[in-house]
Amino acid sequence: MAKVKFFSGKSLPLEMHKVRIVQKLFLPPVEERARLMNEAGNNTFLLQNRDIFMDMLTDSGVNAMSDLQQAAMLRADDSYAGSETFNRMSAKVREIFPGFPYFLPVHQGRAAENILASAYVKPGDVVPMNFHFTTTKAHITRMGGRVEELIIKEGLEPVNDCPFKGNFDIPRLEALIQEVGPEHIPFVRIEAGTNLVGGQPLSLENMRAVSALCKQYGLRLVLDASLLQDNLYFIKQREAACKEMTIREITAEIASLMDIIYFSARKLGFARGGGIAIREKAEELHMKEFIPLYEGFLTYGGMSVREMEAITVGLDESMDEDIISQGPQFIAYMAEELHKRGVPVILPAGGLGCHLNATEILPHVPHEQYPAGALAAALYIAGGVRGMERGTLSEQRNEDGSERFAELELLRLAMPRRVYTLSQVEYAIDRVEWLYKNRHLVGGLKFVDEPKVLRFFFGRLEPIGDWQEKLVAKFREDFGDSL
Ligand SMILES: *Cc1c(COP(=O)(O)O)cnc(C)c1O
Repeated sequence: MAKVKFFSGKSLPLEMHKVRIVQKLFLPPVEERARLMNEAGNNTFLLQNRDIFMDMLTDSGVNAMSDLQQAAMLRADDSYAGSETFNRMSAKVREIFPGFPYFLPVHQGRAAENILASAYVKPGDVVPMNFHFTTTKAHITRMGGRVEELIIKEGLEPVNDCPFKGNFDIPRLEALIQEVGPEHIPFVRIEAGTNLVGGQPLSLENMRAVSALCKQYGLRLVLDASLLQDNLYFIKQREAACKEMTIREITAEIASLMDIIYFSARKLGFARGGGIAIREKAEELHMKEFIPLYEGFLTYGGMSVREMEAITVGLDESMDEDIISQGPQFIAYMAEELHKRGVPVILPAGGLGCHLNATEILPHVPHEQYPAGALAAALYIAGGVRGMERGTLSEQRNEDGSERFAELELLRLAMPRRVYTLSQVEYAIDRVEWLYKNRHLVGGLKFVDEPKVLRFFFGRLEPIGDWQEKLVAKFREDFGDSL
């Protein structure tokens, strides 16, 4: 894979870094894992990190820092105003996004969304986008606006070899603009590396087409660049017209199409924070007033100056193909190995993690017994691996109390950037395969404590029947005294 070939012909992703700080991991025995999963209400959000062997819950704020990032943190300039740290960070943003002279710092991605929505969205407005992200949608609807998702139909098909499943459906975008009228569209939003459809990319060509339509109708174009680094890697790999371009050139080309670029530095930049890059002075003035109100002074926006220094170096590293290829290559390896073993996964693999298709893995578990949630609990019991339910459990009930069934029941196994080695990924593959072979043993879940809002974060569930005891017994039968 990538630029290094193995003499053996094996296709393996190769770590282009070495590990110099480590954190010890623990793997409790399977009986203990079953007990801990139940103490945590069969909700992986409620597990304690000390009890987890591989934490594949999210890629947010858990990426490994480099030596250069750690070194940069020591020279943080901790002043309330006029900080050199801010000057360095904003200069780096201007460098990678040419043509964006203005930069506003925010404490994380959703804070940028709050500010954009507060500044531009009015009641009755419509914001077209390839796909929503949870926090984006919440901020737009909070201001009385509504979101229209215009992803191509391939984007929602679990297995489809379309290389750019995150693309906009251009004819639908134009039809929508004509239908609602440009005056009711405060901005069009492109989400790079579309999060909720599995980290799927858009092509540069598609972004150009969106930009051309926006220019034609006088619309503002906003890029959510939180998952840009994965999208850059896929453009470089899959878009023939971009083969000879460097990552920096592709980034500059994308930037040239946009009016505003915002990002979560919990993902882009390998640290924790965020920011908004702006092309026009008038737009900067319009958004600026919200920063001291919600975030902090204009030179830190709620971030620690140490994190800002780490982001500055992390943004530079996001322009390095060796560095940004690591995540997508590991994810592709995991998805393809599972596919070879017959486990239903989302293909082609995207940038965020490997997604298991719980509907197909557990066809005997009905929607209302949360198959993706049950699979998450079962995988923790099977291997101490923590994933995140992305299915009906993550939805909110309808007004009348009935369940709103998700289109896809997925278990997301996120791949924190630069964190896990290939043998750890092999271990996760092995335990998923074992679980798949024993899928008939896995049953459903029911709520014992169901909060009205954000039930997937805090809700507690219990297994229906004694399937977890049976799963533990089968594990002992197959693995003997192994952990
Ligand atoms: C994570 C994410 C956000 C929100 O960022 P936070 O830093 O978690 O607030 C917004 N957009 C996308 C595409 C994301 O992946």
